[in-house]
Amino acid sequence: MIRGSCLCGSVGWEIHGPVGNMSHCHCSICRKAHGAPFATYLSTDMDSYRLVTGEGTIRRYESSPGFSRSFCATCGSVVPMRVGEGRIAIPAGCLDDDPGIRPSMHIFAASKAPWHPITDNLPRHNAYSAESTLSEVAPPAGGSAAPGILHGSCLCGGVAFEINEPFKVVHNCHCGRCRKARAAAHTTNGFISIDGIRFLKGEDLLLSYKVPEAKTYTPTFCRVCGAGMPRLRQETGNAIIPLGSLDGDPGRGAEDHIFAGSKAPWYDITGNLPQFDEMPPAV
Ligand SMILES: [Zn+2]
Ligand SMILES: [Zn+2]
Ligand SMILES: [Zn+2]
Repeated sequence: MIRGSCLCGSVGWEIHGPVGNMSHCHCSICRKAHGAPFATYLSTDMDSYRLVTGEGTIRRYESSPGFSRSFCATCGSVVPMRVGEGRIAIPAGCLDDDPGIRPSMHIFAASKAPWHPITDNLPRHNAYSAESTLSEVAPPAGGSAAPGILHGSCLCGGVAFEINEPFKVVHNCHCGRCRKARAAAHTTNGFISIDGIRFLKGEDLLLSYKVPEAKTYTPTFCRVCGAGMPRLRQETGNAIIPLGSLDGDPGRGAEDHIFAGSKAPWYDITGNLPQFDEMPPAV
């Protein structure tokens, strides 16, 4: 049995049959829905899947005609969704158990984030592979902005913001909370000062979920589409920006992997960035 659950635990599921089609998806819809550099899915038959808890907490957003993205209305985690032909797509970032299989390819590699290099040797496809069951639509229109200003938005377009400050630091974070919050292998979050971000619309659509046992961990998402959104931390004067929410290219990506000691068992960290088991030593 393979179990999974959202960050807050409201939505939980079990898989009792074979799983397959595990791949990293770089399409613009996945990147926005997860607020992550890419999403990793596997799939199983509906007959092998059982939602244990949380039906009433799942919200759906139709990201393309006839295809809905599902997320937890309380914490924003992307949760399993039907993909047709009796199959269900499972976001690997929310798994509690090792699925036993490993990602076999990158799909929509041509749509990848400009700030995220692919550094492993898995095959790269520029669309769906023949075996893939997820559906894709045209990417949302990218924002054009004045020099020095970066635009960002959620998947439904209800929330839009701009950033007028370079990132102080950008981390790939592999901690268990980040993996669940964004239902992905890891987050890529940039930090700026709170004065460096301005919401253009939809600030009232933002929802935050504070992890009860955490001191400050409070991921933020759009209540309509579930997309990962910036979080303003008044207490520290920082804003945390999921790079997956950006429409433009910040011209840089992450400088390291943090909490690499907590990484998902199904994900290998490749490339040359420094890795820290927890936080990097203070400088
Ligand atoms: Zn939840
Ligand atoms: Zn995708
Ligand atoms: Zn939205």
